Parts: sequence; structure tokens; C-alpha cells
Amino acid sequence: MTGERFFLLLTKKSPMTNTLYIYNTLSANKEEFKPLNKDLVGMYVCGPTVYSDVHLGNCRTFISFDTIYRYLMYLGYKVRYVRNITDAGHLENDADEGEDKISKKARLEQLEPMEIVQKYTLGFHKVLRAFNNLPPSIEPTATGHIIEQIEITKKILDKGFAYESNGSVYFDVEKYNQTENYGELSGRKIEDLISGTRALDGQSEKKSPLDFALWKKASPYHIMRWPSPWSVGFPGWHLECTAMSTKYLGKQFDIHGGGMDLKFPHHECEIAQGCASTGKKPVKYWMHTNMLTLNGKKMSKSTGNTLLPEELFSGNNKLMDKPYHPMVVRFFMMQAHYRSVLDFSSEALNASEKGFNKLMTAIKDLPQLTKSTQSSIDVQSLVDSFYQSMNDDFNTPILIAKLFEAVKYINHIKDGKATISKNDFDLLSDKITAFTFDVLGLNFIDKTDESILEPLMKIILTLRKQAKKNKDYTTADYIRDKVSEAGITIKDTREGSTWSL
Ligand SMILES: [Zn+2]
Repeated sequence: MTGERFFLLLTKKSPMTNTLYIYNTLSANKEEFKPLNKDLVGMYVCGPTVYSDVHLGNCRTFISFDTIYRYLMYLGYKVRYVRNITDAGHLENDADEGEDKISKKARLEQLEPMEIVQKYTLGFHKVLRAFNNLPPSIEPTATGHIIEQIEITKKILDKGFAYESNGSVYFDVEKYNQTENYGELSGRKIEDLISGTRALDGQSEKKSPLDFALWKKASPYHIMRWPSPWSVGFPGWHLECTAMSTKYLGKQFDIHGGGMDLKFPHHECEIAQGCASTGKKPVKYWMHTNMLTLNGKKMSKSTGNTLLPEELFSGNNKLMDKPYHPMVVRFFMMQAHYRSVLDFSSEALNASEKGFNKLMTAIKDLPQLTKSTQSSIDVQSLVDSFYQSMNDDFNTPILIAKLFEAVKYINHIKDGKATISKNDFDLLSDKITAFTFDVLGLNFIDKTDESILEPLMKIILTLRKQAKKNKDYTTADYIRDKVSEAGITIKDTREGSTWSL
């Protein structure tokens, strides 16, 4: 080794020790990540309310935090990742009035509330598995932590930050704001919040419209209910996350995440509940993911501009040209930073699909590369840039750009336009696979099933086409239904029929 090269190695900082910076919503700044307990990270992410199918926007949040979880572990941290299941039901309008969503759905579908919970929890897990998300370390449920929620309510009452009214318990926001800062996370001022809310009508149980329920007395039609010192009722909207994060991660923990729509009031209320019950600010780094749009417009059920993950995978929708594999969708999501708005469109997904295939092909080609005595580029710097991009607030689009520099290099080596040494080859192989599979959570798409089925499906589609031509719709429908039972979707388009698994 030459002196100069040796000196370079000595002065080059090990990428593992490079500092990780996280954008903290609380300070509106990128901050150096210093866990409260060295090498141990506590992370809490607000999970789904399981009364309907998980939508793509939620998937983006969970995929973003899955990547964050993966990268922290890759850096060597021991991470306890807690993500709850909201199965006690949020109320329709901001926690205080009306029927909870799970009860309502149960009434509409004539089911037990826990049947709804089971159905959509299983569906949620199925979708996240398709996206190759790792399960969290603990996935606690709100209904499994009613006692803890009652205990926190008692504590907040004892400290004088809540009051009982007609069997319900409310958090006293203005009292809390005398010593603490309600609105610190979302940047809201309490005076503005007060002037922006409707005045109470005198019938209200609350002292101020800003006060939120810690415990609600159940009305006669409310199905999910538990006994408490105040009434037979149910916990308020925000309390479960405080109860479960405190129980599993302690009074103070490192990272709390969720979609940006949860910043206010949900997370603001979590801070208030935590401070009021323990005297400590619960979270060091607050992280929020941005929203999804579809063809440039806000996703919305009412306008039909909405897409379920399953519809995206099967191609069974009117908004996209064709089906997209969950790994392509995950890769597409990683091509935007988690704090940026991401727009779903066929055009963008098609481009991602090409990019994804290019990356996977290059990785598959690695073992065939010829090793030389020297490398024609600085492989160490390239690999360092993988870390640097992720250390900059988990900047996955920059990481992917760097991975594509590696792809270009690999392709040049294949074509004899570049060279790589044995050591650099080992380094590059190790890191490109680690960052692609372990950190970004991508995987090869298993084509075997499809390639075996391709000739068979061609025959089946021809027979069905013939049946339709003969106006034998019974046979045509029979083929479609039976094939569907086997997990294959036939889609009829103007150009003919297509199939997907
Ligand atoms: Zn929450």
C-alpha cells in the first residue's frame, strides 16, 4: 500500500460513525440523532384504525417507517418498534360526539365489533407483507390497554390537568397551557385556536372547545364499553398512544412517527397527556410523512380519485394502465423523500418499474463480473455516499440515485469499459445488496410462477375468447370465475383480455 493511500484510509471517516441527522417536526430542523439510551432506540408509530381497508397513503407512512426502522438496525442500533392497532374506534367527529367508527361499521355490517377488527387487521397485515414490511417489535391494541388508559386519566386528574363532567373526563387545555406550550408541535397559538373554534352552546360538558376527552361516558347505542371510576364508557381518541408508548418505551423515548395529518390534534394531545401525567416531554424526535396524491389530485373516496393497494397490484381499477407489483410500488415510494408529496400516476410508476428492473438486473449480474487488479473509480466513496444519503434524514431518492451510479458502473464493467478490483468488488457487492434489500426493503420479483403460467393462460384466454365469440357466456364466465378462485384475475379491456396473479 502506498503511503498516500494509507493516509487516505486513515483520514477517511468510517461511514458507520457518520452522524445521522433527522428532521424533527418539533424544532423544524434537522438534528443530530442521539438516542436517549446509547445503542437502543425506542420508536412509536401510530397504527391504523381497523374499520376499513388500509389505504395507500397509510401504506406510504408504514413503508417509510419500515425503511427508517431497517436503516437504524443496519447501523447497529437495537430498536424497539411499537406500532399500535386502534381497535377501540375513533369517534366520527374529533373524539367528542357521535358514534365510534368501528361500532358504526359493525352495526352496518351486522357483525361483532371484534369481527370488524379481526377482518381489517388481517387485511392490513397482508398488504404490509406484500410490501415486504417487517413486523414491528410490539403491536399492541387499544382494547388490550384500557386499564393503562384509565390509570393515566387518574394521574392527569390528580395533577389537576383534567376534570370530570357528567361521567366523562376532559383534558383542560387552557390550564395546561398556563405552564406548558399547547401547540408547540404544530406551531399553533392557543389564542388562534380558541378564536377558530365554535363557542360552546352552554349544553356542553366541556369548559372550553379546545378540551379533549380522556374518557367518554357511553351512550346507550355505543357497543364497545368498559367500566371506569367515572362511568361505563370508552377512552378518548388520543389516550391509547400515550398509554401504549409509555408502557413499552418509557416516559420518554426517541422517535414518534405518523402521517402529517396526525400532527394536530392527535400528536399535540399526546404531548400534553405525556407532560401532564409524567411531567416530562414524551418524545425527542417527532417525524411526519407527507401525503399521496393520485394523478395530481388529492385522494378522496367521494370523488372516486382513490385506489386501494390490492387494486393497484391486480390492475383492477380505472385509474392505472396496468397492474404493478408491490415491490415496484415500494421502489416508487422510495424515489420520493418521506417529507415530500408523492404523486401516483401510471407514467411515473412505469418509469419506476423500468428503474427497478435495471437495478435488479445489475445485482443479478454481479457474480459474473470480471475482477481486475485495479478499480477505475473510487468505490469506497461511492459506497460512502449510500450512507451519506440515508444519514441525511433518510434521503431515499438520493440513495437510489447513488445506487444507479453503481448500476452504471456495473454495466460498464460488463461491457469492458471499466474495471473493479477484488476488494472493491466485495465491498460493492456487499453494500449494494445491503442497501437495496436490507435498508430499502426491496426484493427480487419471483417470476417463476408467472413464467410457468404464461403459456397455460394463453390457452385459457384463447378458449374463453372463442366461447365469447360463440355467445357462450356461461362458459366464458365459468372460466373467469374458476381462474379467479385460483388467484388469477382476468381483466377485459378494449384491446383484449389480460391476466395477473
Ligand atoms: Zn397515535
